[in-house]
Amino acid sequence: MPQNSSTEHVAGEHGLSRNETASSQCADTGRGDATRVTRTLVVGVSFVVCCIVYSQIARFDTAQAVDPQVTGSQEKPVPRLTDGSDSKPAFRTELIRGQVVWLASALKSEFGISTVPEVAENSLALLTNDRQLLPIIENLRGRAFRKDERLREKDMQILARRYDRQPLLQILRVYEIDDGQRYEVDYWCDICAIVMFETGPCACCQDHNRLRKRLAEDGDIE
Ligand SMILES: [Zn+2]
Repeated sequence: MPQNSSTEHVAGEHGLSRNETASSQCADTGRGDATRVTRTLVVGVSFVVCCIVYSQIARFDTAQAVDPQVTGSQEKPVPRLTDGSDSKPAFRTELIRGQVVWLASALKSEFGISTVPEVAENSLALLTNDRQLLPIIENLRGRAFRKDERLREKDMQILARRYDRQPLLQILRVYEIDDGQRYEVDYWCDICAIVMFETGPCACCQDHNRLRKRLAEDGDIE
């Protein structure tokens, strides 16, 4: 066959018989196999050693995390945010004059701080008359300013809680100042005669409620 004669010819050129060529290839193959076996063994042993070392380190770390005494460490545990007692977070209630605005807009106008466009209407804040910017908690009272633009950028007095450990304002009552008078602001359903905190359908009859402004009892304001 042409293929065999070609093989014989090439082998002949190198002075080797067919049998010599075959045995040489066999020896090479044998050495290759031995090398591969050795490499496999080395890799396998290395892997097992690494696993053992790693498991020992992991056990040591776990023991440390569970019991600092394992290493003789006298480090104090990280203090918790609350002490687990029944004491409530400290706050004070304040009546604050200012305008409710979008936080991003006021950051730009008051402080020159730019924000990304997508957060333009993410958060509300009270910009006080003495130019402090106080972010607002968006509960029902807070969300009222998002839902109804008639409440934004108006001269307001906000009765709010300010907490010792967090900076956001919790709105309790909303007063609008108009022509030297103070008006309490809420929403009212004339059919059901119930009060609500934000614009929208009545919680009872589903008719749209209306913005209500009532002169506060102590309505005069300087
Ligand atoms: Zn109703």
